[in-house]
Amino acid sequence: MSASIRSNVLEVTNIQCNYEDTVVIKDLTFRLLKGDIACLLGPSGCGKSTILRSIAGFEQLVSGSIKLNEELIASPKKCLAPEKRKIGMVFQDYALFPHLTISQNIAFGLSKVRDKAKIEAQVAKLIKLVDLDGYQLSYPHELSGGQQQRVALARALAPEPDLLLLDEPFSNLDAELRNRLSIDVRNILKTLGISAILVTHDQKEAFAMCDQIGVIDQGKVQQWGKPYELYHEPVNPFVARFIGQGTFIEGITLTPDTFSSELGILQGNRAYNWQEETKVEILIRPDDVVYQPGANLSATVSGKVFAGTATRYQLRLDSGTLIDTIFPSHQDFLIGESIGIAVDAEHLIAYKIA
Ligand code: ADP
Repeated sequence: MSASIRSNVLEVTNIQCNYEDTVVIKDLTFRLLKGDIACLLGPSGCGKSTILRSIAGFEQLVSGSIKLNEELIASPKKCLAPEKRKIGMVFQDYALFPHLTISQNIAFGLSKVRDKAKIEAQVAKLIKLVDLDGYQLSYPHELSGGQQQRVALARALAPEPDLLLLDEPFSNLDAELRNRLSIDVRNILKTLGISAILVTHDQKEAFAMCDQIGVIDQGKVQQWGKPYELYHEPVNPFVARFIGQGTFIEGITLTPDTFSSELGILQGNRAYNWQEETKVEILIRPDDVVYQPGANLSATVSGKVFAGTATRYQLRLDSGTLIDTIFPSHQDFLIGESIGIAVDAEHLIAYKIA
């Protein structure tokens, strides 16, 4: 389906949320297209869960509005009860009922449905979808963390919500399982065409799962866009630092697309309208630096992490500045070795130093 003909499932407009007199969310606006998975990404304490709670109906708005499928569900004067919003939630701690079997846990989301056959069919469909066939009669404590989170997902999906909210759902799982489950959950949501919002502080998880990402800092959206846009076109240094690795080095503007720096004269294909001699900070991503034997520029290897197909090196420039790089695995250097390097970046991301 093309984006131009899809409607918004969720419209969050200029919302403000307070705890007592402290403003936690201010003037926050974003839209979610039907069928999209979006992520609220930001450091701990920036307000992500508060935003999710306000959408779910657990926080009163001080100003602004929230619409679900064009229906007003929240404003300072209106707060539709959580159970009346067609919204499902999945939490970090699974929150399964320990005394109910897996099938009963999933069916719990269908307590309003009277038709027993319909309940059984829906539970059977979801058990299959979350790959838990054979566990129908097991209890939560008999399942691994990843399996329990699949049950929580199936329970939230059972009533066919218009929107699913996932609050740090994989935080209790180890790294490998997180990666796998985030891809599995994305596939399940896409199969069902469910719109969802994921809250996380983990950039990798956001990239793997989401169509759109909103980077949040201090209760405000710093940038909203596709993962590729956030990585390649970060609108400010906060987003640049938060999305992906990289090192900022200082430079001086020579021409709109050229800077002088301790890494030499750097030229990208993006022009900035700063005057000559403007002081800037330039983002150097790990893959912008390449090994070049005999280059004019050299650096000393000060750190090395072998990661199979590639190796991450920390390099020390003559000035003492440390930069993070990533080289193909066969480019194998020793700590303390001096190597020739060059910058090979298609576009340069630079910000004026205030
Ligand atoms: P995040 O999900 O990004 O970690 P939260 O939305 O949980 O952030 O919290 C945002 C801010 O609001 C934090 O400073 C937090 O300490 C504060 N906060 C969260 N919940 C409450 C509460 N119930 N009462 C008072 N302050 C709270």
